[in-house]
Amino acid sequence: MGEHRNSNFIEKFIALKKKMNLTITAYSTGLFSTWIFIEELGILLDAGDGVSSGLLQKTRKIKQAFITHPDRDHIMGLFQLNPLSAREGYPKIYYPKDCGSFPYMRDFQRKFDVQNNFVEWNPIENLSEIPVRKDFYVKAIRNEHIKAAPEISKSLSYKLYETKEKLKKEYVDLDKKTLQNLFQKKGKENLVKTIETNILSYSGDTPVDDYEKWNGSKILIHEATFLENFDDIKINKENKHSKLDEVLKMVSEIEIEQLILCHFSSRYYKEDIDKNILELCKKYQIKIPIRVIYPGEIHRDILNQKPVNY
Ligand SMILES: [Zn+2]
Repeated sequence: MGEHRNSNFIEKFIALKKKMNLTITAYSTGLFSTWIFIEELGILLDAGDGVSSGLLQKTRKIKQAFITHPDRDHIMGLFQLNPLSAREGYPKIYYPKDCGSFPYMRDFQRKFDVQNNFVEWNPIENLSEIPVRKDFYVKAIRNEHIKAAPEISKSLSYKLYETKEKLKKEYVDLDKKTLQNLFQKKGKENLVKTIETNILSYSGDTPVDDYEKWNGSKILIHEATFLENFDDIKINKENKHSKLDEVLKMVSEIEIEQLILCHFSSRYYKEDIDKNILELCKKYQIKIPIRVIYPGEIHRDILNQKPVNY
């Protein structure tokens, strides 16, 4: 038995690493609704209106929903999603701990429909880490969308990490037999190290601030509510958003592999968005693929969508 397990363990490291594909279905239009579903992991990022009617039966696959903040366009889908996907211990909702709206919503939902008693509501804060299966976890990080003192968590971004055990460098080139012997002699813990990869990051609603928080993300999903400078127009002055130019400038200065832009205002047409992205790609010399969640459209499997700039 022990021998067999060793052999499986070795096979795992010798076999070509299988890359996990993420099937991401998403809708995002500033002011109206934002929801992003990662099918393989059963996680939902924000739960705007229309999430269940967009996902239909797949709504029941949602195990964990990470909500960035309590604005209407990020939470209203919970009224339909919760009773629809409720079963023992699920879905698990995570929300910024200092937002009073969530406990109100929880209490109302419980009174409204007994099915909602299954739903688990979890207050979280800056740097909270939440396990997603055994080899993934989500880390919450504070953003500045809602003005609040540093110790207050009212608006969060989320980063998804994969943890993998890898053979230490000095053992990589050894053959199977030698590895098996070493494994027996030294034990697994001395042969491998744990590698963490930031597979995906989701900004939620946020102004562009600290570039460093996204550096090293494989996929970044970032909001870009405005194409131009709307500072002088009265738009929700308290809650801060990002402009496309600032987002792309930041992207040109950090290391990421793919960018997905979301939360555009419904005032923009697809053509305007594409044109602006292409101009800015030139200006900032951006070479990575950029995909867009256009206002008013559900995108199914967005990573297989053609990038705007390719
Ligand atoms: Zn929003």
